[in-house]
Amino acid sequence: MASEETSSIFASAAANPLRNETKSVRVDITAGTGMIIAWKDGHESAYSFPFLRDACPCALCNDEREKSDRKPGQPVKPSPGALPMFKEKARPSHVEPVGRYALRFNWNDGHDLGIYSWPFLRENCPCETCRAAAQATK
Ligand SMILES: [Zn+2]
Ligand SMILES: [Zn+2]
Repeated sequence: MASEETSSIFASAAANPLRNETKSVRVDITAGTGMIIAWKDGHESAYSFPFLRDACPCALCNDEREKSDRKPGQPVKPSPGALPMFKEKARPSHVEPVGRYALRFNWNDGHDLGIYSWPFLRENCPCETCRAAAQATK
């Protein structure tokens, strides 16, 4: 029955309805520090721009991360013996909302394919509590 299906969808969302909802989002492009999200369940997440760049959720970056065995937000490992290449610190040249559920970053290296949804950002919160929780479930 259609009505039963609908109620079960609501039931699963109700398990933690505020977890993926944002109360406020601050992106400090001018200072170049990063982004701070306050969630409706009271949690706060602070992301540096290099972290976000290395966590880009687009298919290209996902693919590249899988090949080099990195988690979202982990910096690219320099290949052994290679001289460190100068790389400008990642920062967005432009940030725009995508609907009401995500942000799109245009990075200073020209990359602009990543759409960062609230659930993705919450799942990859870099704070110690969330990292420890993510470790525990693996
Ligand atoms: Zn990407
Ligand atoms: Zn966290």
